[in-house]
Amino acid sequence: MSAVLNSPIGLRRGIGRQANSSVLPERCDVAVVGGGLIGLSIAWRLARAGRSVTVLERDSIGSGASLAATGMLAPAAEHEPGSDLLLPLALDSLRRWPGFRDELQADAGIGIDYREGGTLVLAIGRDEVERLRFRFELQNRAGVAAEWVSGPEARAREPLLRPNVSAGIRCPLDAQVDPRLVMQSLVTACERAGVRILEMLPVKHIIASSTSTASLDTPQGTLRADTVILATGAWSGEGGLLPGSESLPVRPIKGQSLALKTTRRTGTLSNMVWTEQIHMAPKADGTLIVGATVEDCGFREGVTAGGLFALLEGARRVLPGVEEMEVEAVWSGYRPTSDDDAPILDVLPNGVIVATGHHRNGYLLAPSTAYAVAELLERGSLPDYARGFGLGRFAQGTEDQQLRARA
Ligand SMILES: Cc1cc2nc3c(=O)[nH]c(=O)nc-3n(C[C@H](O)[C@H](O)[C@H](O)COP(=O)(O)OP(=O)(O)OC[C@H]3O[C@@H](n4cnc5c(N)ncnc54)[C@H](O)[C@@H]3O)c2cc1C
Repeated sequence: MSAVLNSPIGLRRGIGRQANSSVLPERCDVAVVGGGLIGLSIAWRLARAGRSVTVLERDSIGSGASLAATGMLAPAAEHEPGSDLLLPLALDSLRRWPGFRDELQADAGIGIDYREGGTLVLAIGRDEVERLRFRFELQNRAGVAAEWVSGPEARAREPLLRPNVSAGIRCPLDAQVDPRLVMQSLVTACERAGVRILEMLPVKHIIASSTSTASLDTPQGTLRADTVILATGAWSGEGGLLPGSESLPVRPIKGQSLALKTTRRTGTLSNMVWTEQIHMAPKADGTLIVGATVEDCGFREGVTAGGLFALLEGARRVLPGVEEMEVEAVWSGYRPTSDDDAPILDVLPNGVIVATGHHRNGYLLAPSTAYAVAELLERGSLPDYARGFGLGRFAQGTEDQQLRARA
């Protein structure tokens, strides 16, 4: 991952921070394994609540999925068949974002380019319009805020769109942030709250039992912690970290993205625009993020010509002005994806707390996840809104499969 960070490809992912390699403490209240968005969000909330927290990151902060993201907070545009379990949590987290933003900005002193303004999901041609109608009806049935717009109405909102846009759905409550600014803010807020962040320090093995202090085995020695939180993103499914043969049902789904520089001459979009192929998100620094491929190819690194071609072709299909925009950066990352695309929030029998599997919604779900884990430590149980995301739901799926196989 570091090689990618230092090359012209993948530059956008850096947050301009020297890797921190301070000394491993002997013990702490809470050890967080994984320095991505989820690990840092949780670490910040727990340190704020007065706990001594150490974050251990085997590469550099955010080098997993978190600095590869677009930063959309888009439960309405994301709503699709099969995401009924996720929707209440997603809407809950969206409602928590303004409070999370205010506290983060107050603690870190950095703006995060939080923008409201919604998403416009577009269709070109009869087939896409039919599929968009289906999506619209699904949103209506789920009670998600969404309004149908004609092609001309879509172009009135975004005048740079091509005239062949047939129709769209406007999702007015969707919002977005800039991932680099969020990650910078979280690092600063964590450090100001006393969190010790150790980079380039892999956790090789966790020895834990629900009744005693856990030990984390690292190349610098052993860290003892009352509580261990596993926030290792797409790597959460790797064996060897947890005791015994335990591993979690999480795999990487690769995504490639690019950032285009917009100017007064090229113009830009005013809000997020989606098509069936791509999404585009304008940021305050004048860049337009175009994302993202969805590739179930394991940890196969790198940016491919096919990936970039698909993104650029998809963008040009609705926004001809992209041809004039300079390419600022291209990169890839791995979404942490569980078997049902929803996050895993649970306590394992050995006491390790798991917060992973946020797939393409980590930014959207960060506030609810962090508050839920803070409440778990405070009160001994997850809040109601997070209870349906335990590992038990996958065992149920396996039992159903076995019953079907026997029938
Ligand atoms: C292209 C792309 C676009 C996306 N767009 C959006 C979006 O618009 N909106 C949205 O909400 N979400 C989006 N996502 C998803 C979002 O980025 C993720 O859900 C989120 O970043 C997951 O955060 P995380 O902390 O769980 O994982 P990560 O950021 O991957 O962090 C996990 C960390 O754990 C570390 N680690 C692993 N094993 C160990 C170990 N043994 N010891 C120490 N450290 C370890 C890794 O190095 C890594 O840094 C996108 C993702 C991608 C790839």
